[in-house]
Amino acid sequence: MAWYYGTYSCGHEGRVNIIGPTKDRQWKADRHFGRMCPECYEKWKEEERDRKSLEASEKSKEMELPELAGTEKQVKWAVTLRISAIESMLKMIDRIKDSVMVEYGDGSRERMDKAELAEAVDYGCMAHTDARFWIDRRSEMHETLVIFAREYLKKKRDEEIPADVMEEMLDEDSRLTVAPENPSKAGIVRLSESNSGSLEARYVRDDDFLGFMKEKGFRWNGSAWGKAIDEFTGAIDDRAAEIGNALLANGYTVMFYSDRTRQMAISGCFEEESGRWIKWNAKRQMFAICWDGYNDTLYQAARKLPGAAWRDGCMMVPAEFYRELDDFAETMGFRYSKRARMEEKRKADETNGYRKADVREPDRKKQTDEERLRKVLESSRTIIEDLKDEA
Ligand SMILES: [Zn+2]
Repeated sequence: MAWYYGTYSCGHEGRVNIIGPTKDRQWKADRHFGRMCPECYEKWKEEERDRKSLEASEKSKEMELPELAGTEKQVKWAVTLRISAIESMLKMIDRIKDSVMVEYGDGSRERMDKAELAEAVDYGCMAHTDARFWIDRRSEMHETLVIFAREYLKKKRDEEIPADVMEEMLDEDSRLTVAPENPSKAGIVRLSESNSGSLEARYVRDDDFLGFMKEKGFRWNGSAWGKAIDEFTGAIDDRAAEIGNALLANGYTVMFYSDRTRQMAISGCFEEESGRWIKWNAKRQMFAICWDGYNDTLYQAARKLPGAAWRDGCMMVPAEFYRELDDFAETMGFRYSKRARMEEKRKADETNGYRKADVREPDRKKQTDEERLRKVLESSRTIIEDLKDEA
């Protein structure tokens, strides 16, 4: 490690700390001082950004793109990003032979030709005037084009709907939409049921919402936050009501997919999702006590069950202690999976079988000590009788 002093290409003097083999150091130092000094480089970069931004905003005016919304710095950068995004999207469209298949979020597909795709880019530019949209997607041009294509197709589909039907649908939407007493979040969270039967939630990009979704076990599937519905989650209506209820309590406006779920959410009449399950571990042939999150009280209580051992994030309990497990489950509010119930019943039947076997085969030949004694006395009496006879 050594300090090298020199003059940068901009004329400013400075020093640099160089490491590595001694023979390479002078070369490294020369290379370093061949550039601008750090301050000048920063200034140059900023000027470059300004220059590009100015160029981009002139192009934007020429293309009649809408103004962007955001902070001054965001807008300045996003204007440049939008122009380069448009340029690369148009290049992508140019490379397409004649048409492409565009897949909707719901799995259905539609064919789009080059002209339509170009129109979709225009439509997308008109629709997305938030500087953040272009900043967040700066390195996802392909995805952005797909988003625009989908939005364009959706608009086209909506236009096919007769005006009076559309009005009715909007009415229905507003009936299914509930705003909290004190709304603190703009826009609407839309809940829906996917074709595969999972619960989906859609909302604008928002960090609080993202945290909320993750906490409630939702996963991003590319077009919405989805929660697969299974034995352990309970019914989809209960899950929709529960998430809707929590969102409303946190200031979000929510659109439900049915009157029933809307009412359930408002009244709070739904079955809460249970994070506590007794499952069957087929590999180990043991019951597994599973719960969400860290809970030392549960851990200590479960640990006391006979033969209990902590494995793979669950407390394993040997099948023969199903009765003790049952007591624990009832006390701590655990539910059994269908499989665990079945195994419990099987084990109980098996155990009842043991007891019957004990009753059926009592050891009758075995003598008690009293019987033994009586026999001895009887035999001695016989002997006495015999002796008498002989006497
Ligand atoms: Zn300088």
